[in-house]
Amino acid sequence: MANVVVIDDRVTNRNILTRLAKSVEEGIQVTSFADPVLALAQLDAGLVPDLVITDFSMPGMDGAALIGAMRERERLADIPVIVVTSYEDREYRYRALSAGATDFLQSPLDHSEFRARARNLLTMRRQQRLLAERAAGLEQALMARGGDGTEAAKAALLDALPVAIMAVDPRGRVLSLNSAGEALYGIGRDQAIGQTLQEALGEGYATKHGVLNEKVLETALPIASPRLEVLESTDGQRSAVFAKAPAIDAAGRVRAVYTAALDISEVRRAEQAGTSGSLVDPLTGLPSVDSFRERVEQELSRARRQSEFVALLHLDLDRYKGLNDAFGEPFGDALLREVAQRLKGQLGEHDVMARLRSDEFVVMHPGVRRADDATELCRRLGEAFGQPWLIDGQEVHLSASIGATLFPTDGKSVETLLKNADLAMYRAKASGRDTYRFFAAEMNVAARRAVTLERELRVALAADQFLLYYQPQLALDSGRLVGMEALVRWNHPERGIVRPGEFIGLAEDIGLIAPLTKWVLKTACRQLRLWLERGFRGMQMSVNLSPIQFRERGVELMIEGILGETGLPPALLDIELTENAVIENSQTATASLRYLHQLGVTLSIDDFGTGYSSLSYVKRLPVQRLKIDQSFVQNVEHSANDEVIVRAIINLGHSLGLKVIAEGVETEGQLARLRRYGCDEAQGHLISPPVRAEDLEPLLRTGSVLVRGMRQA
Ligand code: C2E
Ligand code: MG
Ligand code: MG
Repeated sequence: MANVVVIDDRVTNRNILTRLAKSVEEGIQVTSFADPVLALAQLDAGLVPDLVITDFSMPGMDGAALIGAMRERERLADIPVIVVTSYEDREYRYRALSAGATDFLQSPLDHSEFRARARNLLTMRRQQRLLAERAAGLEQALMARGGDGTEAAKAALLDALPVAIMAVDPRGRVLSLNSAGEALYGIGRDQAIGQTLQEALGEGYATKHGVLNEKVLETALPIASPRLEVLESTDGQRSAVFAKAPAIDAAGRVRAVYTAALDISEVRRAEQAGTSGSLVDPLTGLPSVDSFRERVEQELSRARRQSEFVALLHLDLDRYKGLNDAFGEPFGDALLREVAQRLKGQLGEHDVMARLRSDEFVVMHPGVRRADDATELCRRLGEAFGQPWLIDGQEVHLSASIGATLFPTDGKSVETLLKNADLAMYRAKASGRDTYRFFAAEMNVAARRAVTLERELRVALAADQFLLYYQPQLALDSGRLVGMEALVRWNHPERGIVRPGEFIGLAEDIGLIAPLTKWVLKTACRQLRLWLERGFRGMQMSVNLSPIQFRERGVELMIEGILGETGLPPALLDIELTENAVIENSQTATASLRYLHQLGVTLSIDDFGTGYSSLSYVKRLPVQRLKIDQSFVQNVEHSANDEVIVRAIINLGHSLGLKVIAEGVETEGQLARLRRYGCDEAQGHLISPPVRAEDLEPLLRTGSVLVRGMRQA
């Protein structure tokens, strides 16, 4: 029959804890105290519980002080203590754990979780007792047998025991190992004896037990507080309860340290199966924590083989407790179910999520290639809280704090990763909640930069911080201005002019590319229309479109709308698209581009030569122009290879009836060559860098440019 002590200064809590504790097993005796000082006095007076469950903040003595006092008393040092902290008091948990708490639970208590943890600790306590008894029995047996002096007799006795026993000499070498020990550690005694702990059992074991053995050697006292440990062995993990005792010779010297270990893996497994019951969390229908761990284990070993990263996220709802208290437990449960549902909607195909406890969720995100992948998921999960929740006709707002950690950089085992993710989550809470933090500091810097940029970019669109620059395009035979390319710039309030390379990708990621493109198109079309009215004719306006806009139909209607609105003749608009864009979204892109072609809009393939170099799409699509990528143009004079490519593109374009334009022309030598190869048009700093509309006007007035390279040709 187990004895449980409950300590809490509030009577309601005391009653709840007492009731719960009694429901853990048949016949549990509960003694409850309102005052920790009084409880300690009773413990000193001889009350020996199997488990203590205590509140943290209590007048007179807090949980940490109580546990500290217990741990100092030899008789109370091993008694498992569960600390109940309120939801917001994460700080207390850490203090309680460092004072020696065995476990903690969060209030409001999850009843089944409470029972499972309490039951586990009680079982462990029983194992400890059993071990202590066996160790005592062993000592007596050794004493009794000591007289006959035969090593063989001792060994036979040791082998008959169901406890793993290992003796280590003062230099840390294995002296003996019994059969149960061979089974537990997975090593034969022939291999182990004479080896150091590190050689026989590996670094992890040696570090931990080396220290404990030293202590036994120094003090000549047993370590009587058996502790549970998880051992990694070839056939998986084994849980064992350990204790240590010195072997003292007639002269009072410690000749060896005996380590006794009781393998309780089976008990633990049965217990876990019994408590978690199934593979799912009954409240949310998510995988149970156990099956989550298992999935993570599998994924880690896969990722290890493939040298991939895996992100582990720990998500904790902000202010859940308040809602739970205000609206009641059924409401809280319904809310958790809804949260689980909505979060699940944000996950990728290979992501796995589980509910860790009460309102804490864990997510595994495999296949991470770059840090941004994890950032992106954190962001999406956070955003899932943007909409309010409607539970029983009650609208509530929630947010979450998320901690993220990466395998293998932050940790190699599930345990370490979970611990680090939890710590990172704690930091997210500390920095004002409703945010995410990475365990690794440098990741936070990158993530923060991304977050700042994202926020600023949203502001930029609303605050009209974008500008268009225009870069002229020249016909090489006549030297006349035949068009211009609109290139967007961000006039950042602090950083000044920012080039598109820094923000187009992000705009695509966060769904800002559509409104941005709309703005660019409208501004560019309106500008050309204005110039037309002022008599500058014969020029097209080229606008860059992002590939992702061609993933769905509809972009063509947007363009048609803008043409109508600005009154620009469709034939004066040219769309620049990279070849990858066209190929990746082949079906829908083709339909949209054909529609635009019908309207009269032309299409140029941008950065030509850097993509797939498959030309079948050129025949399929209404392409009018190829833009030779500037990387080839810039080397055309000095790389025979690039020269060949440039010539090939020009010939190819012509044979397909397309115009060819070279971009990034910087020198007269480049221009001369391009002319010689028959290139139709050119664009680049040699002619003009991209400039504001008003700065282009002098050029518009002359209508042509005479550059030396053209004369040379
Ligand atoms: P792009 O369409 O290939 O644009 C040509 C880039 O080369 C421009 O960079 C231009 O400033 C630069 N450039 C022009 N002449 C020269 C030269 O002689 N030498 C060198 N070294 N560079 C030259 P920018 O403006 O930074 O734009 C970068 C890219 O951003 C563009 O490449 C385009 O893909 C994208 N972009 C620009 N504006 C927009 C836009 O409104 N929407 C979208 N979706 N993308 C845009
Ligand atoms: Mg372009
Ligand atoms: Mg280009």
